[in-house]
Amino acid sequence: MAYSYDDQNIFAKILRGEIPNDTVLETEHSLAFRDIRPQAPTHVLVIPKGAYVCYDDFALNASDAEILDYTRAIGKVCEMEGVAANGFRLISNAGEEGVQEVPHLHVHILAGRSLGRMLERG
Ligand code: AMP
Repeated sequence: MAYSYDDQNIFAKILRGEIPNDTVLETEHSLAFRDIRPQAPTHVLVIPKGAYVCYDDFALNASDAEILDYTRAIGKVCEMEGVAANGFRLISNAGEEGVQEVPHLHVHILAGRSLGRMLERG
């Protein structure tokens, strides 16, 4: 599906420097920063700098360079935060039923406590 991108979303504002963020890593095509309402001791969001709404939009439409940079940025943040030692979870919500709050692609990196089962019914 073709997505339309809302450039007034909060992550677009972060990328334009209009609101602050707690940066963990910045690369040519990606930015990682701490979630403002952390749900685990480690809770980092990784976003591409390009205007992509969600994961399938990015995976289908981003350049090879952006995809490589973004994938490596996620790996680098995992390494920097040491999440592999005890385990971690990556989440990327999309759309209404995916309960995506901010319509700019982001992967949540969560770690530092037992995260429970992947989904609860309801
Ligand atoms: P999602 O529900 O997957 O769209 O998640 C959006 C995430 O963005 C939530 O975990 C929010 O806590 C987080 N968030 C919203 N605004 C900010 C902000 N200004 N800086 C950092 N994280 C934010």
